[in-house]
Amino acid sequence: VVVLAASSGGGLVAYADSQPDQPQGFKKKKVVVLGTGWAGTTFLRNLDSKLYDVQVISPRNYFAFTPLLPSVTCGTVEPRSVVEPIRRILEKKGGDFKFWEAECFKIDPANKKIHCRSNVGTNLDGNGEFLVDYDYLVVAVGARSNTFNTPGVTENCHFLKEVEDAQKIRRSVMDCFEKASLPYLNEEERKKNLHFVVVGGGPTGVEFAAELHDFVTEDLSKLYPSIQHLVKISLIEAADHILTMFDKRITNFAEDKFGRDGIDVKTGYKVVKVSKDAITMQNPATGDIAVPYGMAVWSTGIGTRPFVVDFMKQIGQANRRVLATDEWLRVRECDDVYAVGDCATINQRRVMEDISEIFRVADKDKSGTLTVKEIQDILEDIYVRYPQVKLYMKSKQMNGIADLIRTGKGDTEKESVDLSIEEFKKALSLVDSQVKNLPATAQVAAQQGQYLATCFNKMQAAEENPEGPIRIRGEGRHRFNPFRYRHLGQFAPLGGEQTAAQLPGDWVSIGHSSQWLWYSVYATKQISWRTRALVISDWGRRFIFGRDSSG
Ligand code: FAD
Ligand code: MG
Ligand code: MG
Ligand code: MG
Ligand code: MG
Repeated sequence: VVVLAASSGGGLVAYADSQPDQPQGFKKKKVVVLGTGWAGTTFLRNLDSKLYDVQVISPRNYFAFTPLLPSVTCGTVEPRSVVEPIRRILEKKGGDFKFWEAECFKIDPANKKIHCRSNVGTNLDGNGEFLVDYDYLVVAVGARSNTFNTPGVTENCHFLKEVEDAQKIRRSVMDCFEKASLPYLNEEERKKNLHFVVVGGGPTGVEFAAELHDFVTEDLSKLYPSIQHLVKISLIEAADHILTMFDKRITNFAEDKFGRDGIDVKTGYKVVKVSKDAITMQNPATGDIAVPYGMAVWSTGIGTRPFVVDFMKQIGQANRRVLATDEWLRVRECDDVYAVGDCATINQRRVMEDISEIFRVADKDKSGTLTVKEIQDILEDIYVRYPQVKLYMKSKQMNGIADLIRTGKGDTEKESVDLSIEEFKKALSLVDSQVKNLPATAQVAAQQGQYLATCFNKMQAAEENPEGPIRIRGEGRHRFNPFRYRHLGQFAPLGGEQTAAQLPGDWVSIGHSSQWLWYSVYATKQISWRTRALVISDWGRRFIFGRDSSG
């Protein structure tokens, strides 16, 4: 088996230099990229621009470093420090790139066209609409904030998704403090204005609450001494705990720390309505309670963008919630369209669907049974094609091939056992329980963008030399290893210069040392030396002078 692509994390193989010169009149294939977020930008930065004619379409002409958006909400970091113009990124790369500041509002896969609308100018028809053809389309449009149709949320709550959102939140926090200071208010009204509500106890909501608490205690309490005791921050979460995607130790630490900080963590409460003056939440024990608030930030999860929903209907994915791709990030049932990042999920193939085929491929001598050697020979390919098998092998139930055979045979010692198809099925019957959706994170989006660029860079060479891991009938020939995610760990900043870090292998570290790790990782991950310098100087400025409270 010739495996061509080094999978996701394997770094990029420079390929273009070994390409033969293109013949005269040769037309490069058109690649259209929708979106300049984590997935789209990483794809573009890693794509060999000599090979394709590339057009980039996004309603924002910059990349935003989203992990620092919570810091922008309180002025710890300036907005311009977390963005990099996409034209600068493309210009640095050189090559055949075009950028259109516009929004795609319809994908037409039958005619390989996309419909776009400019948000900066209009054409002669007065609507700013235009069409773009593609040979390959990369959908990297991210997700929208999800209100779960809760009434009043769109009108009354802030979201925290874009740079503008963070700027608006900052202004709104300052407005609440100034309003609460006005001479004609009574105590009740001041309290209401100073009640900050965060809905959603995931990483973003928690980090914002922590950031706001620091801003209030470290900076604003000195400037608003007469009202500072009236400030209240509430964090509302429908589940029983906050930060449920993290290790239990981190969840507990965060809940305890917030408790000590005076942040009111309300778990088990579901927000059912938001009006101009009050947030209504529900709990089986208490029923509905309405609490007055000054400002609310809604951060409960993400949903699919409407034009992507429309595209899904066109290609027979109407009954799904999220656009599905295969493990090569190709949109299912739709040629030449790829999707990366938050706008899509990988529909991981189940081992049990293919079990007979796998058995047939493994049984090289056509004996109708598998020997240890035959299983060993195919196992690496199985791992590549079905990552759940490796996860299962690593989990408690199994430890390696000996157990695979043991489970099938009920026999520990004999090395030469043959496995029948029934025994093989039984041995693998639980592996699909290890299939998990990848989280909607920048880490996943960036790795997918990089992986897809690697595939695109080698597409031509691979066409001449098509081979890949196990081929399942009806799936066609695969030229690359499927995408494989490498989890590098996750941070949860909790305020007061303390951060929780969860690294691979369940390694958990909480406190000031992790905060320094956080600073150094986020400084390193910056997209350019310019933003790196700006972010570091923002942090330095905050240490020395505190956060700015004008606005
Ligand atoms: P995005 O980065 O959202 O990019 C989508 C792009 O598509 C944007 O350029 C957008 O303008 C463009 N677009 C939108 N609609 C259209 C259209 N109709 N046509 C064309 N283009 C369009 N992840 C982490 O791993 N670690 C963190 O610490 C972290 N912190 C976060 C903090 C906040 C406040 C937020 C909001 C997210 C955070 N995330 C974090 C998650 C991470 O930002 C996302 O998972 C990541 O941005 C997904 O990348 P993406 O490219 O799929 O989408
Ligand atoms: Mg993107
Ligand atoms: Mg982004
Ligand atoms: Mg995804
Ligand atoms: Mg055999």
